Formats: sequence, C-alpha cells, structure tokens
Amino acid sequence: MEQEQHFFQSEAAELLKMMIHSVYSNKDIFLRELISNASDALDKRRIEVLSNSEYGEYEPRIRLVRSREENTLTIIDCGIGMTREEIVQYIGTIAKSGTREFLSAAKEKRESGGGIPTQEMLIGQFGVGFYSAFMVADRVELISRRLGASDAWKFESAGDGSYTLEKTVLPECGTLVKLHLREHAGESSDDSSPGFSPKNEKDYTDEWTLRDIVKKYSDFISYPIVMNCSKWKDKTETIEDEVINSQKAIWCKAESEVPEDEYREFYRHLTHDWHEPLERVTINAEGAANFRGLLFIPSQAPFDLFINRESGGVSLYIKRVFIMNDCKVLIPEYLRFVRGVVDSEDLPLNISREILQEDPQVRVIRRSVLRKLFASLRKMLESERGKYEKFWKAFGKVFKEGLVHDHENGQTLLELSLFRSTDEFSGEEEKWTTLDAYKSRMKPGQKTICYLLGRDISVLRGSPKLEAFRAKGYEVLLLTDPVDEVIMTQTREYGGTEFLDAGGPAGAESEEERGESEKKLEGLKEDFAPLKEKIMQILGPVLSDARLSLRMTSSPVCLVGDENVMSLQMEQLMRAMGQEVPPIKRVLEVNPDHPVIRRLMTLARSGDCRTEDFISVLYDQAVILDGGAIADPARFARLFAGIMGSALEADKA
Ligand code: ADP
Repeated sequence: MEQEQHFFQSEAAELLKMMIHSVYSNKDIFLRELISNASDALDKRRIEVLSNSEYGEYEPRIRLVRSREENTLTIIDCGIGMTREEIVQYIGTIAKSGTREFLSAAKEKRESGGGIPTQEMLIGQFGVGFYSAFMVADRVELISRRLGASDAWKFESAGDGSYTLEKTVLPECGTLVKLHLREHAGESSDDSSPGFSPKNEKDYTDEWTLRDIVKKYSDFISYPIVMNCSKWKDKTETIEDEVINSQKAIWCKAESEVPEDEYREFYRHLTHDWHEPLERVTINAEGAANFRGLLFIPSQAPFDLFINRESGGVSLYIKRVFIMNDCKVLIPEYLRFVRGVVDSEDLPLNISREILQEDPQVRVIRRSVLRKLFASLRKMLESERGKYEKFWKAFGKVFKEGLVHDHENGQTLLELSLFRSTDEFSGEEEKWTTLDAYKSRMKPGQKTICYLLGRDISVLRGSPKLEAFRAKGYEVLLLTDPVDEVIMTQTREYGGTEFLDAGGPAGAESEEERGESEKKLEGLKEDFAPLKEKIMQILGPVLSDARLSLRMTSSPVCLVGDENVMSLQMEQLMRAMGQEVPPIKRVLEVNPDHPVIRRLMTLARSGDCRTEDFISVLYDQAVILDGGAIADPARFARLFAGIMGSALEADKA
C-alpha cells in the first residue's frame, strides 16, 4: 500500500506550531493528554460493546512502553480506535468554530509583544491534546484500528505541516501512539538557530520520571496503566509489567484524603477546562439510593452553552465501572453546565439507556443530586456572595430555564435567582438582589413584587413607566432576558407575594388611589377630547387607544400594552425567531400634569396646524423610551430640528 501525503488543515498547522513553540511549557502534560485520550477511547469501546453483543471479551488497559535504546515512548490502548477518515478528521483538522478568530487574535497579541497562549489554554479551548505529543517528540507515529474494522491505519508526522497515512496491520483494535522523543537537555544545541527544536528537560524514557507524571496527573484513571518497569533481584535487572496508577476512584475517597491538586487534575480530565472550577460538590448518599457523586460547577460558561446541548454533563458509573458520558436523566437540562460523576451501587451493570430513563432508582438519584446542588448553591449565596454572582453571571440565564420547565422546584429556583433592580440604595453599576432581599425592602403598603421588562438595562432605568413607582419609593426589578417574561407570567408569585408588571395597565396605584385618579381624569376628559381625536387620527394604525394617565410624574407620554396583548419584548423575540406576528397596537398614555401636554390640549382645541408634528415627535420619543425602533427616523430628525429652530427663533425675538 502506498504512503499518502496529507497536509494539516491550515488552522491545525498553526495551532500545532503554537503548541510546540509556547515557552511557558510544562511538557509533562503531554502524557496526561495521551492517557486521557486512551481512557476516553476505552470508555467509548465499553459503550459500543454494551450495545453490540457481537464484540467479544477484552481486557481494558493502557500500556506504556519505554525504550531507552530507541529513545521512544509508546502509549497503547485497546479502546475504540479510529478509521482512516476519523484520523483525518480528528487529528488532521480542527473543527471547532472560532479557531480562525482565536489564531488571528493570538498572532496580533504576539506581534504587539503580548506573549502567546499557554499550551493549557490551547488544549482546553480546541481539544488538541494529541498535539501536545509534539512538544516532546520530533516525530509521532499513530497506528489505529477501529473496533469492528479489519484494517489499521498509520499516521506519521514531524509536526511540520504535513503527515503521511498508510494502511497497516494491528492485531487488536485500539490505538498506539509512538513518540520519537526529542533529545533531552544537557547536550549542546543552539535554540535560537533556524529550525529551532525545543529540547526536553527530562528523559521521558526514565521509569521514575514516568511514574511521577502518572501519579501526579493520571492516578485516578479507572483503567490500569501498565508500564515495563525494571526489577532488581540478586543484582540482576529484569523487566516486568507493573500497574503504576492506583485506579482508586477519586469520588470514593474521603474529601480530606484528596489533595486539591488531584481534584484539579480530575476536573481537567473530565472537562478539558483549564480554569479552576468555581465549586465542588461531593455526595455520599445512603438509604433510598446508594451512590456517590463528585460534581463541579465550572467558573466560566463554555462558549457553546446555548448551542451545544450534547457535550458535558454528568457521567454515570456503576460500581466504579464507566457506563456513559452526559447521562441526561441524572440532571435536569437547566443544570447542564454541571460536570462530574455519579457512581451508583444499586443499578445493574448491564442497564440499557432505555431502562435508565424509566428506572425509579435513577429518579431517586436525580432528586437527591438536585437537592444537594441546591443546598450547595444556597450556601454559596449566603456565605460567598461574590462567588455566587460570578456563578450567576456565567450560568444564570441557563439556570432560569428551570423556572419555565421545573415547576416542582419553582420556588427554590426563584429563591436562588438574582435580579437587577432600581435599588437606589447604592449607586453601583451591577447590583444584584435576591427576591428575599427585595421583599425585606418593600415599603409599607406595597403589596407586590414589581418588575419591568425590556431588552436593555439602561433603557429600562430611564423608562417613564418607573416614575410613579419611584415617587412611592417602590423598588422595581429590571428584567432583560427573553425568558423573564415567561417566568413572571408563569410563576406569578414568590413566597405568597404576587408579581406585578410595572409596564402593565395597573401601574403603581392601590385600589383606593385608582378610584381617586379616575375621578380626577374624568374631570379632564372633555379638555383632552380634541387632542385624543387628533392623536388617533394620526396614529390610528399603531395605537389602540390614547388615554390620560397619572402613571408619570415627569414625562409627557409613554407606551403601554393593553391587557392580554403581547408585550413589545415578546413581539420582538417572536420576530427574531422568524415567527410572523401581526402588528400589535399599543396604548399611548398621556400625562395631563405635564406642561407640554397642557399646551397641546389647547393647541388641539384651537386647531393649530403644529399639533400633528408635536404628536408625531412625542410618539416617536415614547417608542425610543420603550426600547423600540422608530418607523421613520429621518422624519423624526427633521421635525425635531424644526422644533429646535422655532425655539431658537423665539429666543432671538
Ligand atoms: P480531545 O481529546 O481534546 O478531543 P485530541 O486532539 O487529543 O483532542 O483528540 C482528538 C480526537 O481524536 C479525540 O476526540 C478522539 O476522537 C480522537 N482520538 C485521540 N486519541 C485517540 C485514541 N487513543 N483512541 C481513539 N481516538 C482517539
């Protein structure tokens, strides 16, 4: 069979180059990455064997073969293996979106002297763990045979932009990665010469060096890692295979026994996230369900949190045996950012995915996991507020999805939710409140938790709809997530206190106050009639009504929705989702105490021709204040300049 030459996809070649030339390197991590890949491949084989009885027995293990004579280190697994296409796809290509942007940003940064990304970052961001092999090797061979296939394929590269592929044989399915190690330091070489090839500071064929690295980074790997070790008996050396990792599941150890570093490595193995997790939650449940859990809340949201619902999640183990990744029945979708492991003592090892869905044991585990996560979040909220806000900023949007779907835990989810508000007790930019804190600040006579919906926090802060609430000293929650409207209308209340839409028809008035203002407005109705007629004449196509209102204290007009009419936010959201929404008419509320309105009522009565332009400008302003887009900005600008011109003329006179 001919050897075929291929080129790495250009982004892949660039990343590879960056990986080799990063100066901050801790080269030891190459072994962690290759062992992690081998362990994943064994997990995948296990899943495939479970669902296909044709595949026979095998002994899952990872083997390290070191050769001082050849200066090579080989990592062999009997995992799932790869087909030729998979090698090209997974090793020769980077499919992650955003790679090109990242690379050009990194290049710019480097050119402006800002340094280059560390390998940890590259590996975490792009899943290029395999490439770390080139940090220590100047030539890498990979031979792989896919489970169920008879052919094996050999990939070989010097990490210089191209690789070769050829058909070969492998007695068993799995993958073998042979590293032709770079010379190690101590011998002369000029690193600044062209064709710079970084040396290894360590000898990666040395038994104790390798033992140390495995102990440090891969001890918890659940498959045995076997290495050819030397044994001395009667002053003669023999070489024997020895398992060099303890394989002890980290979640089975007492928390006090596990050094932080080990948790950190485990988290990294699980998530490829190079940041530290924000929180760790350990569970040791006995009783209705016997299981252990080790869960992590990451400190940053992956960039594809909203698009990719497949990656991540919680892995299921049964009696220390890996069963599956991302076991969706263990955790609700709105907690999909939680990563970790659940290990059940009670479930049967041969459980199928379908049975898992229905199993009452699994439901007990899920409930218990949820309870524990809520408790841990509650504790963080109470005692580590800064950390909790970090959590909320990263995952609050996803967490709130639970308020739409998980009615059983609705009140707990509300208790754990943070909101921004008009809380004027502090001038801080981003201030968050819980509903309990909001309630503790409610004014005497205030009966509801008030909220205002919109797309933009600064638009909301300046909304005329808040004026009456401000006048009364009522705090209003400012809600800008699309899901907020659904949450508020679905949940309706928190701890017995109802929610009230500050932009709705009711406003801030109590029953008695409403009676009084109705009386006052009734008296002004006649004066308002000519202006109302004019407004409806001009704006009939977009307004369902124009009415007097005491909602505002300093603005002349504002737009509100009629009862049972879709809000502006919902209308915009539906349009953004490509749904057809018929034009929705709104109500223009007019403040009779405002000097402009009082003058306009007189102008309208006298049939002054300027009335129309004034109404147009006021309406457009109301649209802007509502976070909407005005229909004819050019006309608005022209009218507005005209008004300014007249005002300046009047000044001159
Ligand atoms: P990551 O492991 O972060 O996805 P890698 O560059 O290490 O990134 O590997 C890319 C892909 O190549 C893996 O996701 C896997 O599909 C495949 N792969 C790597 N090593 C092996 C292996 N030993 N056995 C089977 N597949 C592997």
